Amino acid sequence: MTEEWKSIPGFEGLYEASSLGRIRSVLAHPKGRTPALHVLTPSLHANGYLNVGLRRNGRRKVIGVHRLVCAAFHGAPAPGQEARHRDNDPSNNVPSNLCWGTHAENVQDAVEAGNHFSMNRDRTHCRRNHAFTEENTYRNAGRRICRTCSRDKARRWRASQNDTTNKEQS
Ligand SMILES: [Zn+2]
Repeated sequence: MTEEWKSIPGFEGLYEASSLGRIRSVLAHPKGRTPALHVLTPSLHANGYLNVGLRRNGRRKVIGVHRLVCAAFHGAPAPGQEARHRDNDPSNNVPSNLCWGTHAENVQDAVEAGNHFSMNRDRTHCRRNHAFTEENTYRNAGRRICRTCSRDKARRWRASQNDTTNKEQS
């Protein structure tokens, strides 16, 4: 699958989002620290979302990757709109998994996931059998997310990103 890059409304000429849910800078860093077309490494927020820090007009702002991909592929949101994950996996940021909706709809998604797929709400262990202890649980609008699985996912994600980066350089 070819990775398609699109400019992000509000960040034109600065950052782009891809069909694989990645974000890259289009401009080289003014102090030469990072080259142009440098793919950003997101941080995993405690609620399971991936965030990146973007610079605009000399200021740094931390924004959810899902918002940026959704804006690039589905257009800028109306005020107050949130990016919804159709499969309820907050780290799955491919455009087909994202759409704009209201905060109420976003909460409803989580509630339905809890009811229909039993998104771990009443479970003592995740699908891979890690215990939902206090330390191992992210809570996100009614969802329970396994920290161990999230960390593994982030690690695999970073590894796949390094592979791609190396390929691009070679
Ligand atoms: Zn787990």
